[in-house]
Amino acid sequence: MLQAAVEQAFNAVVITTADLQGDGPHITYCNPAFCQLTGYSAAELQGRSPRLLQGPLTDQRVLQRLRDSLHQGTFFLGSTFNYRKDGSAYLVEWNISPVRDAQGQIQAFVSVQQDITARVEAQQRQALLARALHATRDAVLIADHQAHILFVNQAFEHLTGYASAEVLGCTPQFLQSGQHPPAFYTQLREALARGDSYQATFTNRHKRGHLYHAAQTITPLKDDTGTVQHYVCVSKDVTELVTRTQELRQQAHHDALTGLLNRYAGEKQLQRCQQAAQTDGVGYALILADIDEFKQINDRWGHEAGDQVLLRCAQLLSTAVRSGDAVVRWGGEEFLIVLPGCPLDAAHSLAEHMRTTLAAQEDATVGQVTMSLGVAAWQAPEDSAELLRRTDQALYHAKGQGRNQVAVAR
Ligand code: GH3
Ligand code: MG
Ligand code: MG
Repeated sequence: MLQAAVEQAFNAVVITTADLQGDGPHITYCNPAFCQLTGYSAAELQGRSPRLLQGPLTDQRVLQRLRDSLHQGTFFLGSTFNYRKDGSAYLVEWNISPVRDAQGQIQAFVSVQQDITARVEAQQRQALLARALHATRDAVLIADHQAHILFVNQAFEHLTGYASAEVLGCTPQFLQSGQHPPAFYTQLREALARGDSYQATFTNRHKRGHLYHAAQTITPLKDDTGTVQHYVCVSKDVTELVTRTQELRQQAHHDALTGLLNRYAGEKQLQRCQQAAQTDGVGYALILADIDEFKQINDRWGHEAGDQVLLRCAQLLSTAVRSGDAVVRWGGEEFLIVLPGCPLDAAHSLAEHMRTTLAAQEDATVGQVTMSLGVAAWQAPEDSAELLRRTDQALYHAKGQGRNQVAVAR
């Protein structure tokens, strides 16, 4: 039974003499797995020294350890390169045990060996992949099917401020910034539940509290049966791009001094209202407000004081309107207020409110400032240019009638 077990063992087994003099131990038995491993027949190996298997890549330090073990009669475990009969190298892991007789004398050595080339190659491949993941500039996160984090790379640590040890086992919820509506995460969950990957620009919160923007792709990894086992998330830091885009958008649509919509954005708003009026018949009203004798304010108190007055008027107008309305810096000291769905009477009241509020304020530097306002509401089938012309006409009347007045175009 013992003979059959060794003959049929999966691992290579070789037995040598215990002779440590001269040529050293020589092979007295090897099993078929050993022949398979080395490419030699049992007859070719019989009586030979196992040195037969050594070659240039065989590690001399391991061999020295082996010789020390044999001399001390202790157990040995090691691995190195050996060579097959055809000259090809393989990585072997082998152990050697002394076999003693009843008197304790070592009679033989038995060695069990295994080709670990494939295993080591796989380990090296895995180590290479891990090194590559750590070297990449994109943040990589791998989570299990319940979104518990299994791995994050160094770029992730850098991007988020969290060390790997802090986040392993957690779900990525700690990155949520509160900047996305719940629907954003619902969409994400739904896509992943369908087994689709999900791509979006996330606004996340860094460990130190500030926000960052990341273009993220989350991909489910499925096993052979199609069941999602893992998720991998790759994020690229796009904070600079997003911030710059927001700045450019702000610059393109807003006036630098007052922060109000600029003329370009105001014209867009007019177009939208005109479109709605023509398609749905929903009207809109306009107010043109112009500061009275503003040139004198500049001349008397200086340009900077003038700017402060402009800023104060802008704030006053913005505060007076409702959220759907638009306050536009239409010209130097002229403001256009666009009021979607607002009837003429309501626009008139609003203009009157604006006029009286400003006139009631006393500026610390320039004293009382007033403005004149023209009001008009859309009348089918006129276009926005015609409505604007009528509003401007009304303003002209208000100026003509002595300023600090509201005039309505009927
Ligand atoms: P009216 O009552 O008829 O409106 O007289 P006005 O002096 O307000 O009108 P006018 O058009 O003669 O002068 C407008 C002035 O607004 C001239 C211009 O130098 C000044 N202005 C335009 N833009 C700015 C600005 O951004 N800052 C300052 N401080 N002044 C500005
Ligand atoms: Mg003016
Ligand atoms: Mg003017």
